[in-house]
Amino acid sequence: MTDTRHTRLLIIGSGPAGYTAAVYGARAMLAPILVQGMQPGGQLTITTEVENWPGDTMVMGPELMQRMEAHAREMGSEIVTDHIASLDLSQRPFRAQGDGGTVYTGDAVVLATGAQARWLGLPSEEKFMGMGVSACATCDGFFYRGREVVVIGGGNTAVEEALFLTNFASKVTLVHRRDSLRAEKILQHRLFNNPKIAVIWDHTLEEVLGEGDGPGVGGARLRHVATGETQDLACAGVFVAIGHSPASELVRDQLRMQEGGYVWVEPGTTRTSVPGVFAAGDLTDHVYRQAVTSAGMGCMAALDAEKFLAEQG
Ligand code: FAD
Ligand code: NAP
Repeated sequence: MTDTRHTRLLIIGSGPAGYTAAVYGARAMLAPILVQGMQPGGQLTITTEVENWPGDTMVMGPELMQRMEAHAREMGSEIVTDHIASLDLSQRPFRAQGDGGTVYTGDAVVLATGAQARWLGLPSEEKFMGMGVSACATCDGFFYRGREVVVIGGGNTAVEEALFLTNFASKVTLVHRRDSLRAEKILQHRLFNNPKIAVIWDHTLEEVLGEGDGPGVGGARLRHVATGETQDLACAGVFVAIGHSPASELVRDQLRMQEGGYVWVEPGTTRTSVPGVFAAGDLTDHVYRQAVTSAGMGCMAALDAEKFLAEQG
């Protein structure tokens, strides 16, 4: 027999947006169920120091997310370890099917599924994935003690990954496709002043090279964006940090979308194109994409959901 769980407010995703929605939803006496997904705590669990969460000069990402989870539980939200495989928004209550077979029905739904790392799409990138190619320095940096690594990208993530990797690697080369970074100035300052980091401007990754007969990575072939000239750089690891794409697969055919796969919301609200379905955080935000803005949108989503449910009686 199918295990079915009903709730007034179903929250999908356990990043800052989901947990904040859970805190507010619980305080509105909606007894929310929050489904955590494959990455409990979301993207901040794969980083180290977070220095822009108000109230904490510095807090470790995983610790901050554990605190948010504890807060949501303490307020009365039920936190479920499951992943939603499919979601039906065609009728109320909305119906979500978990990987383990449990069906969750909700009178209102907050979508807070965030974003996932983007890849370049090179065959060699896929070939060496997990064997020298990574999108998470905090997860894999340890394997590169005393070795040389390359980081691809020019945003906050790429710069933070490069800085973090200097804890292990003998040398880090940041490769960026333009001649200036989009990362925050304070991070750029740290990057340029770190003697272990070199920057190669105006280059893209053409191919990840193998290490002779071995199974791992031996180098990176880079291409100059203007001249097309290539150069091979010896390295043991390639970290791809070129941004994230919204995790909107569950709803792509059911909700109005924005360019880039972000869920559309009515400006100034978290209301999606389906009444009773609300979206918050990186899933809908292609501009700010911060922990604090995601948490803010999680708050808005719970308040919008509470108002919707009150209007429904
Ligand atoms: P996410 O944190 O992306 O969480 C999404 C959640 O949805 C996850 O729990 C996942 O398991 C769940 N999920 C996805 N699909 C499903 C499904 N089908 N079923 C159930 N659950 C699902 N921002 C800052 O403000 N400061 C920083 O210092 C900072 N550092 C960062 C460092 C790195 C390396 C990265 C990658 C990002 C960083 N960011 C930082 C950005 C910040 O992490 C994000 O803006 C924020 O986490 C977005 O929160 P979110 O709640 O929208 O989603
Ligand atoms: P991002 O800001 O979108 O930057 C992606 C970088 O990758 C850009 O420099 C981009 O180049 C480059 N890039 C994209 N596609 C590429 C390709 N195909 N080939 C080569 N390079 C490519 O992504 P992010 O750095 O992951 O940051 C995402 C969000 O999280 C941002 O809002 C960021 O502020 C936030 N974040 C915040 C912190 C913090 O506050 N400390 C830390 C990490 C992330 P161009 O510059 O040429 O476009």
